[in-house]
Amino acid sequence: MTQAHDQRLPVLTPAVQLGLLEYLAPDDPPPPGSFVHVPLGPRTVLGVVWDRAGLEAKPVAAEKLRPIKQVLDIPPLPIQTLRFAEWVAGYYLSAPGAVLKMAMSVREALEASPTMTLYAPARPTPKSLRLTPQRQAVLAALEHRPWQTAADAASAAGVSTGVVQGLAKAGGLASRIASVDASYAPPDLDSQNIILSEAQKVAADALWHAKAEGKPLLLDGVTGAGKTEVYFDLLARQLKAQGGQALVLLPEIALTTQWLSRFEKRFGVPPVLWHSGLGIAERRRAWRAILTGQAKVVVGARSALFLPYRDLSLIIVDEEHDPAFKQEDGINYNARDMAVVRANLSEAPVLLASATPSLETVTNAQSGRYVRVDLRERHNDAEMPDITLVDLREAALPSQQWLSSDMRSAVRETIESGHQALLFLNRRGYAPITLCRSCGERIECPQCSAWLVEHRLVGRLQCHHCGFSMPTPKHCPACGAEDSLVPCGPGVERLAEETAEAFPDARLLQVTSDTVGNPHRAADMVGAIESGDVDIIIGTQLVSKGYHFERLTFVGVPDADMGLGGGDLRAAERTFQQMTQVAGRAGRGAAPGRVLLQSYMPDHAVMQALAKGERDAFLDAEAEARVRRGLPPFGRLAAVILSAKKQPDLNDYARELALQAPQMPGVTVLGPAPAPMALLRGRHRVRFLLKAERSVYVPQVMREWVSRVPQSRAVRLSVDIDPYSFL
Ligand code: ADP
Ligand code: ZN
Repeated sequence: MTQAHDQRLPVLTPAVQLGLLEYLAPDDPPPPGSFVHVPLGPRTVLGVVWDRAGLEAKPVAAEKLRPIKQVLDIPPLPIQTLRFAEWVAGYYLSAPGAVLKMAMSVREALEASPTMTLYAPARPTPKSLRLTPQRQAVLAALEHRPWQTAADAASAAGVSTGVVQGLAKAGGLASRIASVDASYAPPDLDSQNIILSEAQKVAADALWHAKAEGKPLLLDGVTGAGKTEVYFDLLARQLKAQGGQALVLLPEIALTTQWLSRFEKRFGVPPVLWHSGLGIAERRRAWRAILTGQAKVVVGARSALFLPYRDLSLIIVDEEHDPAFKQEDGINYNARDMAVVRANLSEAPVLLASATPSLETVTNAQSGRYVRVDLRERHNDAEMPDITLVDLREAALPSQQWLSSDMRSAVRETIESGHQALLFLNRRGYAPITLCRSCGERIECPQCSAWLVEHRLVGRLQCHHCGFSMPTPKHCPACGAEDSLVPCGPGVERLAEETAEAFPDARLLQVTSDTVGNPHRAADMVGAIESGDVDIIIGTQLVSKGYHFERLTFVGVPDADMGLGGGDLRAAERTFQQMTQVAGRAGRGAAPGRVLLQSYMPDHAVMQALAKGERDAFLDAEAEARVRRGLPPFGRLAAVILSAKKQPDLNDYARELALQAPQMPGVTVLGPAPAPMALLRGRHRVRFLLKAERSVYVPQVMREWVSRVPQSRAVRLSVDIDPYSFL
């Protein structure tokens, strides 16, 4: 029996349905983690040799075992990558193959190392060269960083690759061939380019010593404290002492040009980047270098957590409270939480940094599970901004206007003194609702329970959930009345219109994903603000965090209450975080900052805490309310979302699932109830919410529950452990 067992080689493929497969082991079996080609029916598929530790294979009769076809000539996945895939799959109820797929996200990286052509400006520039603005952009990008691929130069310049190739053909560029796997220059860990302030040094030392306790670390520092420089110090010390690799997770990585230049200043070289905007060549190169351990510092969006680190010795999660760390489709994982798990598997320290840490993390610090280090002062003696509330009940705003006279005066004073103002409204488009004056119709998405949002810049109504859009109609689609449609409520475009009317001479810049959706345009935006070409910035959350603009002294929020509606358990916490972050953009340079928050609920605990700067009191009150209601982090939640094309299919399945709901002490199931988004992308949706005491291991309860009801073709079931969205 054991004999037969030893001849079996377990292989996991990224095909979600298959689970662990068994093959006949060769005489000299490849070690776990090895990449192999295996036969599957008539096909050949890619897989990874597993070990017996965490998964069970479906047994195959000995005579049916087939040999593997080939072992690929690349280093095996590190064992921690295997363990992590199992852990994530187990916790989030997903297929281990689906997690493995995230770890091997660049198929090209498995093939033999090809070459690539790199370009730099030709020296000297040929006299006859015709220079279009596009070509100039390419040359500028390659001046800034020579020897890039056509794809990377094109994306840096915001043009097509054809422009780069055309320019090369015309003699404007020199080229050379390189292996795509050229190694990355190592960071200079000893650079003295940045000298920490006294307070920063104290914090950096505290982190370094706290590391010995083996617990997750929290760097809790006000906006503008210079947290980045402090964690750079930890990173440098850790890599010097332990070697290995460091991972820094950032929300919305593509838009952090300022962060990258600070990294380069500190370490002399750029980090290894990982985000969805990378070209194939860069992804392949990064993936390989991470697998071999050659990449020393990786900076990425949440998906970077799943890369095959050879030797991970530190993880940093910056802006740990940011909702962008929660993935909301496919595997609904929380990268902040999984960073703690991943670090643990490698016995590496993990640092969470934020000016507004989540209640989860604060609670962990208070209970001693995490070690907290504070930075209570801004860097360079900058003062914290002064936050004042404007009571909208008394402001007597004209209908369909949003800037109170206090707000207007503050903006005027700011720009007259040569500083910059930021108006923050977290809503894209012109108006969130389009209403017919004659029949009262509100124009809704045909596929979702959501209003269509008018985008006047492009003349369309758009759904922000499914991407549906249509030209803004002239007639009401319900009653046919002409010119009866009116926009209701403000979006960024409309706020910009009002601002332009109020300040006709000011230079305005709109910053939303519609206007600065890619890194190139984001860099332009940063450049324009830094060089003082902008007086008033009107933006969504894109501009609300991370950035450091010396001349920005005023932040105005026309609708500070916006996030407080709806049934989200974190509504108050998030509003507090968002307002603190956006307020934190003000007064980071020499001149002090000022913030006005317009609110219809100035007595609300959130508004009071913001105005008085009482974060800790607010968090205490919030914690108490959650304890009372048994909500996270003092209780656990999990959601089941069912969706189907046809309502009766959905109802039948929901009824069945309700009948099988777990009945045990410490667990309550709410629902089924129509989801707030009862229709999404043309599918009807219902939700269940499971509430449990902290001591309950929820994934197990959920797994048993959903396995009691046979799967249905008509109904899609998705489980969300520790949900952040309740739509
Ligand atoms: P936080 O992330 O805590 O809001 P930042 O890390 O953005 O603050 O720091 C604020 C600004 O101060 C940044 O422009 C940063 O480059 C600068 N800064 C912080 N510490 C130092 C230092 N020790 N030396 C030079 N500049 C620093
Ligand atoms: Zn829609």
